[in-house]
Amino acid sequence: MRTPLIVGNWKMNKTASEAAAFIRDLLERLPAAPSAEVVLAPPFTALESASRALGPDAWISLGAQNLHWEQQGAFTGEVSAPMLRELGCRYVILGHSERRLLFGERDEVIQKKIRTALTEGLAPILCVGESLAEREAGHTESVVTTQLNGSLAGLTQQDLATVTIAYEPVWAIGTGRAATTEQAVTVHRSIRLFVETGWNHETAAAIRILYGGSVTPQNAESFLASETIDGALVGGACLNPDSFATIVRIARTQKA
Ligand code: PEP
Repeated sequence: MRTPLIVGNWKMNKTASEAAAFIRDLLERLPAAPSAEVVLAPPFTALESASRALGPDAWISLGAQNLHWEQQGAFTGEVSAPMLRELGCRYVILGHSERRLLFGERDEVIQKKIRTALTEGLAPILCVGESLAEREAGHTESVVTTQLNGSLAGLTQQDLATVTIAYEPVWAIGTGRAATTEQAVTVHRSIRLFVETGWNHETAAAIRILYGGSVTPQNAESFLASETIDGALVGGACLNPDSFATIVRIARTQKA
């Protein structure tokens, strides 16, 4: 019922020409198939060339890695939702831990961005997750719940239908130390319960919850075999077309 979703977050990697070459390579390895949705999130500067490389009948969607909550104005260095839409973006990653930690993004700002994304027709992928110290102190669930509350409060059931949540423990991102499937499943269950309590059963049953944090072709099967994990947000392993294609193939098989 929930279509699995594999998202490649390129972060600050690949120029416009490298993006086009990567996509040509990926499309040769990976024929279209409806059993899993695939999103690529290149840097802003590569969105246009990525869109062209994906072509007019693209089956892979484009996502942005951030946006500003205003539509336009005096915000030097920022990019707005209408700009992203015009370049063909359908998704936007919001609240990534690198945005939170390195750029000071707080839940109130993330909430504004989510609302703008929804109004402007972009589907938000909201990232939440605890630090190692928070996990070791036994605060994982409360940290994640606070982030969810701060970013999603006040949204309607209809809004939630367009939102994807990515559970990304900060200690697992880019470290090669992925969560265990059991750790991920436990947090995924508490996220779904949060949605059920805050909205209703239907919304909780429909929302996609991804796992992110050192997902590789080697460990993807274990995560994606779980009924509660609806896909993956992939950083490092998405920069290599072979690894990324393998993860997509695993999602297609596991969720068929
Ligand atoms: C990420 O940045 O969202 C991520 C999951 O990175 P990595 O796969 O490299 O841990």
